[in-house]
Amino acid sequence: MKILVVNAGSSSLKYQLIDSETEKAIAKGGCERIGIAGSLLKHKTAKGEVVIEKAMPDHTVAVSLVLETLVHPEHGVIASMDEIGAVGHRVVHGAEEFDSSVVITDEIMEKIIANSDLAPLHQPANVIGINACKAVMPNAPMVAVFDTAFHAKMPDYAFMYALPYEDYKELKVRRYGFHGTSHKYVSEEAAKFMGNPNAKIITCHLGNGSSITAVNAGVSVDTSMGFTPLEGVPMGTRSGDVDPAVIEYLANKKGMDVAGVLSYLNKKSGVAGISGVSSDFRDLAAAADEGNYRAKLALDTFCYKVRKYVGAYAAAMNGVDCIVFTAGIGENTVSVRKDIMAGLTYLGATIDEAKNALKNDGTIHDISGADSKVKVLVIPTNEELVIARETYALVK
Ligand code: ADP
Repeated sequence: MKILVVNAGSSSLKYQLIDSETEKAIAKGGCERIGIAGSLLKHKTAKGEVVIEKAMPDHTVAVSLVLETLVHPEHGVIASMDEIGAVGHRVVHGAEEFDSSVVITDEIMEKIIANSDLAPLHQPANVIGINACKAVMPNAPMVAVFDTAFHAKMPDYAFMYALPYEDYKELKVRRYGFHGTSHKYVSEEAAKFMGNPNAKIITCHLGNGSSITAVNAGVSVDTSMGFTPLEGVPMGTRSGDVDPAVIEYLANKKGMDVAGVLSYLNKKSGVAGISGVSSDFRDLAAAADEGNYRAKLALDTFCYKVRKYVGAYAAAMNGVDCIVFTAGIGENTVSVRKDIMAGLTYLGATIDEAKNALKNDGTIHDISGADSKVKVLVIPTNEELVIARETYALVK
């Protein structure tokens, strides 16, 4: 069966058409810089890669362009949409009710939409992705694979906030965690690489959104994102952890309401807010190299806070056997990995600078130093393969 996997992010839309038998991608690609000047679609097949530069003001335009490209007489890989047996969608928030993937019915769709306020940057993009695919492929079953599901086995003391217990029970205010599909995949790959299913692994998913997860013997036991994807380390435009008292202070000083402050924390903060340059780490690195103080400060703050989470999770598991870097920044930004690891030698974790500098070629790189007691791995994430597997399992 051919399964279209759609991963609609805040500024990107990645897709793969995967053959469930071979588990190989027949076509893959992504729209980059959606809503930002210079948006483009990269589409890769056995015939090669094409780059289509086209304005993509929103995700609806991006999905339509992906589908057009898949059936395109020259760049396409299928004759018609009917060849797509099912569509698997990455959906950010499953709340407490979804601890595994589900076939999307009207009722499920309502619940996904209802959970949008829990993930305001991502869930609306996921919903647009589902609706756009449904419009073009009304007969293909759609499956939702939730970012929160892998974290569903976290112990209660890790997912609890120290708020009145009844508000957890009644209002479900708790840590959920996100990027679960990615943390699950890379931690499983790391455990396989090490030949140790019981390894204590800290996975650093560093992309436009970033989160760190402690995985003990295959179970997510803690993770840096919380009730929403706003908590944890600083991100492209998200603040990560702040003192909640800042909200009232900012509201008063800047004349904003609570929604205004939340939008400010989600969209105007993070490395973009500190630097005033960009949310994109490539732009930040270029500006820092030219001596831009705020761009360097943004990078330093990001690396420092990631390092603190790694230390915290080593404490949470009473040790760490392996640290994994993944996603856009984790897989590609050599200087960020170097800076984070520079302060982790007390764990016995070191990296080999030459290995760390090797270009991402889509395979697992062991960048551990010769004397390192901890394996340090760069593992390209493959959320799409996990989504395809779960989609096939539900619809076959
Ligand atoms: P998301 O999926 O959350 O939108 P990604 O995982 O694609 O984000 O990560 C995007 C980030 O990765 C950007 O800050 C970008 O600058 C950074 N990055 C660094 N080097 C590369 C590269 N070679 N290719 C893609 N992204 C890169």
